[in-house]
Amino acid sequence: MKRIDPEILQALLRTRKAAYAPYSGFQVSAVVESADGRTFAGCNVETAHFKSVCAEASALSAMIGAGHRELAAVYVLGPGDKACPPCGDCRQRIHEFSRVGTRVILVDEHGRVLNDRTIEELLPDAFGPDSLDAR
Ligand SMILES: [Zn+2]
Repeated sequence: MKRIDPEILQALLRTRKAAYAPYSGFQVSAVVESADGRTFAGCNVETAHFKSVCAEASALSAMIGAGHRELAAVYVLGPGDKACPPCGDCRQRIHEFSRVGTRVILVDEHGRVLNDRTIEELLPDAFGPDSLDAR
């Protein structure tokens, strides 16, 4: 089975441990890789009123805040052995900063690739920045 870069796995494991999920106990981390190869990690953050921030959104915010706008890949690590796919909102967020072929790679805590798809596969016929050109 294919495995991801050990440094990305370490960032995923470290950040997942920091996830704030006292209500669900469902800790998730994400690492996004910008087009120039920099990586940014994020974790899910829950609140008592149940409007949580997803790990993917958190990692994307770190990338955007550092001045990067183009996404090469997204890695997601959830709890347990099952793949943790991005929610619909996060697919839209990922699409916003994707280029053709941006990959979304779901892994387990051993770094094994459980699922590796393009954002186009995860969000076909997406509404995005180009859609607004129709105005
Ligand atoms: Zn999400």
